[in-house]
Amino acid sequence: MLLNKVLNILFPSQCPLCGNKSDSALYNPICSSCWRGIERYTGPACRICGIPVASPLATICGSCMKKKPLFSRILYYGTYEGALKESIRLLKFSGVKRLSKPLSYLLSELSVSGFDGIVPVPLHPKKLRQREFNQMAVMGRHLAGRIKVPLMLDVLKKVHDTLPQTEVTGKERLENVKKAYLASEKAAGLELLLIDDVITTGATVSECVRALMTAGAKEVTVAALARSMPKQNT
Ligand SMILES: [Zn+2]
Ligand SMILES: [Zn+2]
Repeated sequence: MLLNKVLNILFPSQCPLCGNKSDSALYNPICSSCWRGIERYTGPACRICGIPVASPLATICGSCMKKKPLFSRILYYGTYEGALKESIRLLKFSGVKRLSKPLSYLLSELSVSGFDGIVPVPLHPKKLRQREFNQMAVMGRHLAGRIKVPLMLDVLKKVHDTLPQTEVTGKERLENVKKAYLASEKAAGLELLLIDDVITTGATVSECVRALMTAGAKEVTVAALARSMPKQNT
């Protein structure tokens, strides 16, 4: 982490993904070749939760059909792999903060306009101290400026520190984040856009949405950079 930070300061014009010279003013520091490697997912997907479905004819997945989620929709740019995965990992775990601007472009490519506010998935204060910045709050600031929707940093809080979702398995993930988030009454009556980096089981965003809806939000849509794809049952 420290090494990455040092390299980041010494070679600000180097693409953090491949090490070549950053050749694009727009997507800086990502080079144009790596940027082209970030592809949008366009396959058939559930129109509520976004999970890929086998048939283009099925527009709602079995799980959303059985129980309608609290969020209106989950939008995401691509699948959690390749250059997109690497950029998110560098931003989140290696502190390459300047990746937040080009990555925020991906969020603005989604249907994110017309909301009353942008709410980034918050970190617990302890985690925030360790990581020094909440990558989603930084990305939210870039997005807010671009799409002219206010950034709301004081609407949602993480009140319980939890294990990283990557350290618990599928079913335990929901239990792990249960009641970890609390929303203020400022959410009341608003149509909100909740932003996160990666959707895996959706447990984190579902808990955030539950908190926002409990506080009286009218509607919450989720936008993420990536979605990790479920393993195919063979
Ligand atoms: Zn590159
Ligand atoms: Zn679904």
